[in-house]
Amino acid sequence: MAETTRLNAIRAVTGWNTTDHQPDIKNKNIREYFGCNVFSDQVLQAKLPENIYKSLQKTIKKGQPLDPTVADVVANAMKEWALEHGATHYTHWFQPMTGLTAEKHDSFIMPTADGNIITEFSGKELIRGEPDASSFPSGGIRATFEARGYTAWDPSSPAFILDNANGTTLCIPTAFCSWTGEALDKKTPLLRSIDALSTQAVRVLKLFGSNASRVESTCGPEQEYFLIDRNFYFARLDLLNAGRTLFGAKPPKGQEMEDHYFGSIPERVLAFMQEAEHELYKLGVPVKTRHNEVAPAQYEIAPVFEQANVATDHNMLVMETMKRVAQRYGMELILHEKPFAGVNGSGKHVNWSLGDDQGNNLLRPGETPHDNAQFLVFMTAVIRAVFKYSKLLRVAIASAANDHRLGANEAPPAIISVFLGDMLQDIVEQIEKGGATSTKTGGVMKIGASVLPTLPKDAGDRNRTSPFAFTGNKFEFRAVGSSQSIAGPIVVLNTIVAESLDYIATELEKSGKKGDALNSEIQKLLQQIIAESKAVIFNGDGYSEAWHQEAAVRGLPNRKNTVDSLPDFVAPESIELFGKYGVFSEREIHSRYEILLEGYKKTINIEAQLTAQIAKKQILPSCIRFQTEIASNISALKAAGVEPPASQIDFLKEISSLISSLQTRSTELVKIADHHADGDSLAHAKYSRDVIIPAMAAVREVADKLETLVADDLWPLPTYQEMLFIK
Ligand code: ADP
Ligand code: MG
Repeated sequence: MAETTRLNAIRAVTGWNTTDHQPDIKNKNIREYFGCNVFSDQVLQAKLPENIYKSLQKTIKKGQPLDPTVADVVANAMKEWALEHGATHYTHWFQPMTGLTAEKHDSFIMPTADGNIITEFSGKELIRGEPDASSFPSGGIRATFEARGYTAWDPSSPAFILDNANGTTLCIPTAFCSWTGEALDKKTPLLRSIDALSTQAVRVLKLFGSNASRVESTCGPEQEYFLIDRNFYFARLDLLNAGRTLFGAKPPKGQEMEDHYFGSIPERVLAFMQEAEHELYKLGVPVKTRHNEVAPAQYEIAPVFEQANVATDHNMLVMETMKRVAQRYGMELILHEKPFAGVNGSGKHVNWSLGDDQGNNLLRPGETPHDNAQFLVFMTAVIRAVFKYSKLLRVAIASAANDHRLGANEAPPAIISVFLGDMLQDIVEQIEKGGATSTKTGGVMKIGASVLPTLPKDAGDRNRTSPFAFTGNKFEFRAVGSSQSIAGPIVVLNTIVAESLDYIATELEKSGKKGDALNSEIQKLLQQIIAESKAVIFNGDGYSEAWHQEAAVRGLPNRKNTVDSLPDFVAPESIELFGKYGVFSEREIHSRYEILLEGYKKTINIEAQLTAQIAKKQILPSCIRFQTEIASNISALKAAGVEPPASQIDFLKEISSLISSLQTRSTELVKIADHHADGDSLAHAKYSRDVIIPAMAAVREVADKLETLVADDLWPLPTYQEMLFIK
């Protein structure tokens, strides 16, 4: 009998040796190689004439339009630098609506009449590219006959060199839009939202006497992921094609022992992390922490925060670099939100704050936040924004994959609420009653052993169950999915907070007062805003059933899944909001809505096809072989004159009945998945959710049952136990 791919996989895994791959990265001084592949500020300063450098800085730091005469000089400097680094090609690097990055490489060379070459890279080529972009999702904005899409240089994110075994490529971060100027990517709206937020935040700061002329949103995304051996990965068509397992019985040991979280990192995994970090450091990505996560085989990497646009580009590089490097260690990095049922999925905690161009974090409460009116204004603006537009935050994290996590008692619920912690909660209550006069302090924490230092106690514990938590000097949006680009969630956050700041600035400006004279106006306004928005504040256990009931009483939206959530994106208030701040036009919103619905439908459809395929071509044949074995055993016993035990016959009947269910259910699934619902994209998505997903679950249910019964040597798919625990 043929060996199962699974048994081959297990054998191959144990053959892995940590010395199989040893890159030359040990004992190098990080101060020497950090950022060596980045066309950084330092390089710019060294390579550009002073006036050109200064002009470019105005664009990078202050968001001013680029002076076109600067481009040629910058392009030339960039080319020279890239050639020094061995680059032969350059690419406009962009982030289309696939949620991935895209690149098309062009060489610097230009043949000359005498058969030689010169290298060329003009300002025009730097500023604008024209990839044939007809195959990227556009949600109807661009028909294939008008295939032109443009990439436009984003000077606010530095160019970098991508290393590969056989060469290097200069990558230029760009925005991607249609020839009518409509955004076809993740970056364009992000840049627009950064501008909108800055404009409104600067207005508010002026009232407090600040000279700041630019405010940036800052962001530090904590990235979770799984790592499994590639031999298992290739033996699981579901992981390979859908990014998650569509079958798999619950293993005897899951995460209940809580022995993986922060546990010592396995040698192969640590070696992988070190090489991935080394590559990221060269790219100037400031990754800072690494640790084991809650689920077996799950890990996390987190960077130091950066300006949101750069943080977004860097998070894309983190995901891609880690995926690439993991393969060198024989492992597959899995970014899907829920690769394994029954153990925790992966998310991305997006830490977000506001920083002005004088180096102040506007969400830093200081020692005495109660008399820090400016902080209170910014904090209240965020609370108001989340209250008023929680549905849009929900839209920003909606995907078929994230549906498996949100509300599943491992990730925050789909109900968006704000966690403030004891100290801020107390201040907010004081404001609501008429004015904040004191700040609760945490005091000193005594650990009880004299050799240990006393630690200042945070005034408030952490709350892991909140989707949106204040964590000291920033908010942490915890419901974001691990595979998602963080651009979408940041776009929504920036825009809704811009709207709140706009509202506050407008109200305060009306009074005509400034500085201390404004205090009573601020108190009145904040009191009113808190009274209106406080329903969104929740400091308790977000996983509890009681919260679901209370949230309903408070009238907070609870969009349980993607299909329930997405229509909020095209609601009039959304179109008005994004239009008002120039972040999305109505057409862009509709196109994105179509892309999101379409993406949902396609994901479910692929999963359905795979479920049927694996059930019919891998699981059924194994089960039938097993059924034959039992049946032959029974006949053999009979032939030998031994009465087969009743339990053996019952077992055969049980297996046979499960096999028959598996056959009927997978045939039914194929029929259901082939059918197309009538109506628009929303109708299709609803059909996927309400009809296809349950049909898939029905197939899985019998298959997982069979997994617990069929002989181990016949079972074709690597099991959860093997994938999660054999390292
Ligand atoms: P925690 O342990 O509470 O998650 P950390 O201090 O480890 O907090 O920070 C988590 C993430 O938050 C890191 O990526 C960090 O860089 C980021 N972060 C810290 N300060 C800010 C800020 N002002 N704006 C955005 N992100 C921040
Ligand atoms: Mg955190």
